[in-house]
Amino acid sequence: MVTMKIKTLIALAVLLYIHSQSTAQPEKISWPDGAKAAICLTYDDAMETHLDIAIPDLNQYGLRGTFFLQGDNIMIDRIWEWRQASLKGHELGNHTAFHPCSEKLDFITPEFAAENYTVDRFLRELEVMNTLLFAIDGKKERTYAYTCGQTEFGGVSIIDTLRISGLFFAARGSGRGIVEDFRTLDPFNVPSGGYEGIKGSEMIGYIEKAEQAGGLGVFTFHGVGGQYISVTREAHQELLSYLSENRDKYWIAPFHEVMKHVISERKRIGRDE
Ligand SMILES: [Zn+2]
Repeated sequence: MVTMKIKTLIALAVLLYIHSQSTAQPEKISWPDGAKAAICLTYDDAMETHLDIAIPDLNQYGLRGTFFLQGDNIMIDRIWEWRQASLKGHELGNHTAFHPCSEKLDFITPEFAAENYTVDRFLRELEVMNTLLFAIDGKKERTYAYTCGQTEFGGVSIIDTLRISGLFFAARGSGRGIVEDFRTLDPFNVPSGGYEGIKGSEMIGYIEKAEQAGGLGVFTFHGVGGQYISVTREAHQELLSYLSENRDKYWIAPFHEVMKHVISERKRIGRDE
């Protein structure tokens, strides 16, 4: 009788152990070649300082970035330079044709205020922008970056609309966080950090945090060595130099490559899209 009780207790303990394993913390995703963290360098608005400074500096260090182009900032006589950037392995992403944002921002005119858009008009603008990008780089798979980090149009969230639109397979948002939990990450609103005037050492500190977390750090740049919301060329080069010297620790890749990997890793750890 006593033996039966012990056997029952052992069986219960085994069941509890199995249950605790199935509800344990999610398995961490892994990065290619044993890297400890993934880093994406992204640049918004199709700015001239990207063509003049950021891309030449990335090329010099053998690093690749993602350029979220804004259609009406693309100049006809510099289109070939964007094409060259794509041929070098940089990603060209969609950042709308006209950069609609909230009318509360002083640089937004009423005709391009998000409050005055319908979701349908917004989607058509994104579709046209995808077509323009296809004409530049010949690619059909595309990622998106929310203008001003804004995920609402006319008071309606567009995150799920983009998810089912078929236009993109991932989207970069704002939020300044390092991605640590890939089960709860929304691939259509990946946080990123962008700071005006940030120093190279501060950016390196951010990367070290991503390393400690085994996570993903996404940078959002605007002007590099000039123009608006800018970082200095020196700070940008300090970051690139550090990344280039620590390639064994960090996987530095365009946003679309990193998100493809993340999506497949999420499936592996049991988190289907
Ligand atoms: Zn922008």
